[in-house]
Amino acid sequence: MNRTEFIPMVDLQKEIDLLKAPLLKEMKTVLKSGEYVLGAKGEELENQIAAYTGTAYAVGVANGTDALYLSLKALNIGPGDEVITTPFTFFATAEAIAQTGAVPVFADIKEQTYTIDPEKIKEALTPKTKAVIIVHLFGKAADMEDILALAEKYNLKVIEDACQAVGTKVEDKKAGGIGNVGCFSFFPSKNLGALGDGGMIVTNEQNICDNVRELRNHGSHMRYQHSSIGVNSRLDEMQAAVLLVKLKYLELFLHKRKEIAKRYTEQLNRYVKTPETREQEGRTYHQYCIETAQRDELAAHLKKSGIASAVYYPVPLHLQKAFHYLGYQKGRFPVSEKTAERILALPIFPELSIEKQNYIISNVIQFFDQQKD
Ligand SMILES: *Cc1c(COP(=O)(O)O)cnc(C)c1O
Repeated sequence: MNRTEFIPMVDLQKEIDLLKAPLLKEMKTVLKSGEYVLGAKGEELENQIAAYTGTAYAVGVANGTDALYLSLKALNIGPGDEVITTPFTFFATAEAIAQTGAVPVFADIKEQTYTIDPEKIKEALTPKTKAVIIVHLFGKAADMEDILALAEKYNLKVIEDACQAVGTKVEDKKAGGIGNVGCFSFFPSKNLGALGDGGMIVTNEQNICDNVRELRNHGSHMRYQHSSIGVNSRLDEMQAAVLLVKLKYLELFLHKRKEIAKRYTEQLNRYVKTPETREQEGRTYHQYCIETAQRDELAAHLKKSGIASAVYYPVPLHLQKAFHYLGYQKGRFPVSEKTAERILALPIFPELSIEKQNYIISNVIQFFDQQKD
């Protein structure tokens, strides 16, 4: 392989080149329509995402963070309430809770899957707990059976942060369609990405759908009639048109990611901790993460060979400056903290060629072989 060609974490340009003709065709339709916010494309995408996730309703919003925020608002969560979530996720998951005025309460993850530990949810419960936001991190579904049982027992709402898990299957259901409400992000680097920001909520409950529809549009269900204080958070027609094209390729792209993940695991599991392979069938891969005590050295070695890698996530949320006010100390969530020091994501995207992947794999192996000398 040509060593001067840097291998990035994700190559969005390649995907756009591949889909250029259908994308331009769809985008031209929007240009000509004169309808740019809340129109036919957005509605069509909502229908298709509802069908894809097996849910009754879908509502487009401006981004994944708003999907989370509006889900909480639709469930009447706010000041005085507590919402349990994982400290090992992207900041937005807990940020959305704080935005409503509720208190984010963290519960540690399981070492094998990086998803929230149902036992730790139990320990974090108080009479103020109204909901849990579980995250299907990197495409791996959280333990939904245990979490739904807890929710039933303690009367909690379950919000799925499925921003990294579009298409993940859990038995006969899909991520986002299992709890009370599911949230998706269409940020460009997500597995279903727009050419800008976008997001969506899915649910089987009509009142949640109605509430989000109203809240996303200034608390209005009819023009110039406002029944609540909402926000401006809509998915625009141009992004919806792009997503309608990309949705057609989603299963193919998810499959390609899975093949890449399988090859990584087969070749690397003797050297590093690789993702758990139980329940392998239904999961998707937003990121492919390994774990090693020599994480930073390995990342430096790969960089020298022209290979990108990334750390998701280097600082657990309970240790973020923005959440100092919650009063958590270092050591409070040992699994998240240890994982943050050891985890490393390798390049994974549908267009990553076998030759390039082999080059990445041989560089990882070379690093560990050198350690032995
Ligand atoms: C990307 C992401 C979000 C936020 O989505 P945006 O569209 O960027 O607002 C929330 N949670 C998780 C787990 C994410 O990966």
